[in-house]
Amino acid sequence: MATAASDVQTKYEAVIGLEVHVQLLTRTKIFCGCPNVFGSEPNTNVCPVCLGMPGALPVLNRQAVEFAVKASQALNLEVNETSIFARKNYFYPDLPKGYQISQFDKPLAERGYIEVTTADGATKRIGITRLHMEEDAGKSMHEGFADSATKTYVDLNRTGTPLAEIVSEPEISTPDEAYQYLTRLKEIILYTGVSDCNMEEGSLRCDANVSIRPRGQKTLGTKVEVKNVNSFRFVKQALEYEIERQIELAESGGAIVQETRLYNPGEGRTYTMRSKEKAHDYRYFPEPDLLPLIVDQPTQAAIRATLPELPEAKRRRLIAEYGLSEGDAATLTATQARADLFETEAKKAKSPKRLANLVISELQGRLKAANLELEDSPITIAGARLSADLLEDGTISSKILKELYDHAFAQNVDFPVIYEREKPQQITDTAEIEKMIDEVLAASPKQVEQYRAGKTTMIGFFVGQIMKASKGKANPAVLNELLAEKLK
Ligand code: ADP
Ligand code: MG
Ligand code: ZN
Repeated sequence: MATAASDVQTKYEAVIGLEVHVQLLTRTKIFCGCPNVFGSEPNTNVCPVCLGMPGALPVLNRQAVEFAVKASQALNLEVNETSIFARKNYFYPDLPKGYQISQFDKPLAERGYIEVTTADGATKRIGITRLHMEEDAGKSMHEGFADSATKTYVDLNRTGTPLAEIVSEPEISTPDEAYQYLTRLKEIILYTGVSDCNMEEGSLRCDANVSIRPRGQKTLGTKVEVKNVNSFRFVKQALEYEIERQIELAESGGAIVQETRLYNPGEGRTYTMRSKEKAHDYRYFPEPDLLPLIVDQPTQAAIRATLPELPEAKRRRLIAEYGLSEGDAATLTATQARADLFETEAKKAKSPKRLANLVISELQGRLKAANLELEDSPITIAGARLSADLLEDGTISSKILKELYDHAFAQNVDFPVIYEREKPQQITDTAEIEKMIDEVLAASPKQVEQYRAGKTTMIGFFVGQIMKASKGKANPAVLNELLAEKLK
């Protein structure tokens, strides 16, 4: 059975393309002055323009353009000096004008990419076809009212929220690559600050297109679009399910139909929602109420100058400066706040490398076990810095450090607090340490002989034994000095 299944798996390959909508964090909406905020009383942030009253005219929001350009640049896209707004016509109750202002054949930006790591560890560029600007629609509310069984309500606060739609090439090969693409995309957009990418509030939304084809075939298979999946994990699960469904269908001689499906995370299945519209169904035409959008080179350069150091560049730099591994650098740069915090403390630390090691091994290990994020850690990066310094100058041993970390986690306090509370009574009294050294050396005549015969690495053995005898409390500097003298 197992071999048969994997034979079928290798006979086909999946092709995935993602469409991501990102709400831009402008103060006001894209074509009117209504506030662009989440969570207001329904239908309070509206005006004749976003309600689609006849005769009301759109005025393009400059900040929305700047944000969309900034996102484009961060995603390696080329920004077109001229782009055109177009009407996408369709009927739906949450779209009062009967059309959505979007961009069609001349989008704001084209030809970008995001890098992912393939299953065999290679770096792969996923092409981004385009980033275009458009307005969001309102929200139909099917649930939560006394008469929801018979009525649907509409909230038009969201109507006219500026969106950037980012469309990938059909170049993603596995659900895991799709997951990485989305994670990277979100990370990059968050770094630029143009969106909060909050999936719960709908400020980042993802549609996943997927088809299969016999491995090696050049032409694309019929695609299915899975709409509105509300977490990256669910996107991955929905794709896994959908690829398997399509393969089974193909194997049993059925036909895959082009359609839009919905993912039900509870059941882990996708369901048919509707047959998919084609572009011509939307009767696109240029928006006559808006001029072509011009973003000239000086404007593009001025916006580019406001880009922060982006995650990939930061990772490269941290790897070079602190000797971190790829994975560790990824952990420390997952958010800009985290990266900034680490760098601030690393600059103050006696050994930045040691701080990085502690954060990654001691802290991350405990956080994983407690199922916590670095941001929720009882030991902060600043707290960890104190521990790194104490370790560096030999005030505490690594054994004591581990204990203090355990206690800090158990008592949910930061390192400096636990250190003050339990300040380990270090033994610095030379007489006491000398006594321990004498005992250990007396109990290990063979090792002493080996040492004197030139095997100087034995020193590690002695230090370990003496530390153990002192329960980790012997001051390492004093110990080392005394031991060296005794062995002379
Ligand atoms: P539509 O007009 O149906 O929206 P697009 O050509 O705009 O189709 O593509 C939408 C998304 O679907 C893009 O991300 C694209 O990469 C992806 N896509 C297109 N064709 C396929 C296919 N055969 N299999 C998987 N993904 C596809
Ligand atoms: Mg499309
Ligand atoms: Zn308005």
